[in-house]
Amino acid sequence: MLADRTTLAQFLIQERRRHPGAIGDLNGLILDVALTCKAIAKRVAYGALGGVLGAEATKNVQGETQQTLDVLANDLFLRMNEWGGLVAGMVSEELEQPYAIPVQYPRGKYLLVFDPLDGSSNIDVNLSVGSIFSILRAPNPGVDAVSDDFLQPGSEQVCAGYAIYGPSTMLILTVGTGVHGFTLEPQLGEFILTHPAIRIPTAASEFAINASNRRFWEPAVRRYVDECLAGSTGPRAKDFNMRWVASLVAETHRILNRGGVFLYPRDTKDPSKAGRLRLLYEASPVSFIIEQAGGLASTGRERVLDVLPDDLHQRIAFIFGVSEEVERIENYHSEHNESENDSPLYGARGLFRANA
Ligand code: MN
Ligand code: MN
Repeated sequence: MLADRTTLAQFLIQERRRHPGAIGDLNGLILDVALTCKAIAKRVAYGALGGVLGAEATKNVQGETQQTLDVLANDLFLRMNEWGGLVAGMVSEELEQPYAIPVQYPRGKYLLVFDPLDGSSNIDVNLSVGSIFSILRAPNPGVDAVSDDFLQPGSEQVCAGYAIYGPSTMLILTVGTGVHGFTLEPQLGEFILTHPAIRIPTAASEFAINASNRRFWEPAVRRYVDECLAGSTGPRAKDFNMRWVASLVAETHRILNRGGVFLYPRDTKDPSKAGRLRLLYEASPVSFIIEQAGGLASTGRERVLDVLPDDLHQRIAFIFGVSEEVERIENYHSEHNESENDSPLYGARGLFRANA
């Protein structure tokens, strides 16, 4: 069955041949990350039989309850990527500070940033979860990375990807030459290229948003969703479907394969937070993938990949998917004059204007 198939390693070697100066460090790192994801996939697949379901007594840096598998997946990422001399430091959703590479290992020229297990609240109900990762260049190769080294805009990423642990395990990857999908062949333990050059379908008839937050939304978001809900009798003159899996990886994967748009916008629920999702290891890698597949990713006000992070665990408003829909939502934000400094009061006025 392999004769006419491309493995992940083959794919990466073919990509590297386009860059005569490359010495294979990036490929080595991607293969280590892929191995990490295979190890996590196996633990996830065993479910209750693996004895790893349920929550820990601990909370992570975000104040979220850690699932046992969150901790396990984080440890796997650290252990499998610390030794190879390929990274100068790592940042994880589960760690407040950058992870310092143990003294006995060499420091490399890349930074690895990851959400070891995304959508982990879905584990106990056997729904899809995933891992998300982003690779940046270390500003100071060969020496320990410090926090500031990681605060690069997403446009600086050299690679981004995610693994989805669904009915099958897949690895979705971009190194800036399009988006490519690999399916895990479980007997061989090998990722096989099954979805080359993924392009987001342009027809958008699905939107994904947590509608329970409606009362906290800004006018632009209410307007967009209201128009979708109005369907064929509304201004869009067509019917939409709504989807919500509460797993960023699963939502991203559906949009890559079927089109549509995802919104976790800024809202007034907790004005101290600029959004729900984290910039460095959620929004940034997903945005790189979405743009490479022909879509757009925005805060509603600016391109996510242009945002200069000011904190390792910074949250951000995140809207992505089919370009025309994301552009429409950005236009609604600018039509409602929603600047970064708007107060919730202004939002009420904007809503009035939208309905006037
Ligand atoms: Mn996550
Ligand atoms: Mn997570």
